Amino acid sequence: MSGISKILIANRGEIALRVLRACKELGIATVAVHSTADADAMHVRLADESVCIGPPPSRESYLNIHQIVAACEITGADAVHPGYGFLSENAKFADILDAHGITFIGPTAEHIRLMGDKITAKQTAMELGIPVVPGSDGEVTEDNLMATAHRVGFPVLIKATAGGGGRGMKVARTAEDLEEAFNTARTEAAAAFGNPAVYMEKYLGKPRHIEIQVLGDGEGNAIHLGERDCSLQRRHQKVWEEANSPALNVEQRMKIGQICADAMKKMKYRGAGTIEFLYENGEFYFIEMNTRLQVEHPITEAITGIDLVHEQIRIASGAGLSVTQDEVTFSGHAIECRINAEDPRTFVPSPGTITHFHAPGGLGVRVDSGAYQGYKIPPYYDSLIGKLIVHGRTRVECMMRLRRVLDEFVIDGIKTTLPLFQDLIANQDIANGDYDIHWLEDYLARTSA
Ligand code: ADP
Repeated sequence: MSGISKILIANRGEIALRVLRACKELGIATVAVHSTADADAMHVRLADESVCIGPPPSRESYLNIHQIVAACEITGADAVHPGYGFLSENAKFADILDAHGITFIGPTAEHIRLMGDKITAKQTAMELGIPVVPGSDGEVTEDNLMATAHRVGFPVLIKATAGGGGRGMKVARTAEDLEEAFNTARTEAAAAFGNPAVYMEKYLGKPRHIEIQVLGDGEGNAIHLGERDCSLQRRHQKVWEEANSPALNVEQRMKIGQICADAMKKMKYRGAGTIEFLYENGEFYFIEMNTRLQVEHPITEAITGIDLVHEQIRIASGAGLSVTQDEVTFSGHAIECRINAEDPRTFVPSPGTITHFHAPGGLGVRVDSGAYQGYKIPPYYDSLIGKLIVHGRTRVECMMRLRRVLDEFVIDGIKTTLPLFQDLIANQDIANGDYDIHWLEDYLARTSA
């Protein structure tokens, strides 16, 4: 791949390993960075070189831009892959790398900024012809709060402009709830993001979360790779994802996919991105765009056969996309289960040492994880320790395979969310693909002692 010969992976855990694997396949040298808590991590062991960038807290290591740039200079890395989370949607980081002549494997800083602010993202989406949730035009304030809510119609949702991870989001069911929802959302937003600004959307009652994967070359060529259904969530955190969505048919898929690809062409988007929608009664409503690789990208890889990290690196090196829209085919069905080091019912984190680890295998099975027997999960980071991705020719075959694979997976010494998936696979609604974004929380409330 011309232009890029050594990539520094500015991340940890399973995604650092995922990116490292793609680099190895492309014959690109790799640099791992790690905090002192991650010196024994798998991505550090497998990388060609590694640099310790600070103590355990993320802001002093994985979020420490100066240390990461210094690590690039020491090792001679000519590009950085940010993974997801951490600095992956940090426009300042992209700018600084640019100023140092280091390639950021992702979109332009300008596009990161545009999509990082929920209000400008929504305005941009509208201009690009993407359907959005009805709501306020821009920020809501004390003065226009009530009038806007009446225009939009109750129930409404107050959301943080700087939002992320579901924080700073409050529902007002009636006019009486409005003032309080507004104040709580502003307080939460100020605490979480240092910015109290909020906007308003119509609150959808029973939507699904459906997102479209896009790839653009930055020159006006862009394609879509279909959708992922990520409706099974707890506290706005995705738990189980599938591709294709059980709710869409081919025509619907190709229609919304084409709208997204056309939008990316117009904006000359560069790299991988995900356009997230709520979907209700046959209509799509844009909620946000993530300008990075997503945790759940492997299910798209499973049904298209396209390696998204290879594509990201190709695009960053100026080689463009490896496929045209016509060449993209969708084959079978894939499901991803996020394996967290957490109690499967209370979701309380369960860091500690893995005393026994056996990953399942066989046709259509992929395990992306940096965990191994004897690995000590540090308590400082998010609790995702691995992802199980299963592919089958049909959804039924995929579910049968998933059941077998879940029985085979052994992780001892800590609690994990594996038992939750064993329960879900036995559930009739899940078997029917009949669920919305509230289903999992309702189920947990119903079935917990
Ligand atoms: P964040 O960036 O904080 O994750 P999003 O805008 O992506 O915020 O929304 C996160 C989740 O909140 C969605 O997946 C959905 O479950 C819920 N949500 C967001 N907007 C709405 C809405 N207008 N109506 C109902 N639920 C919503």
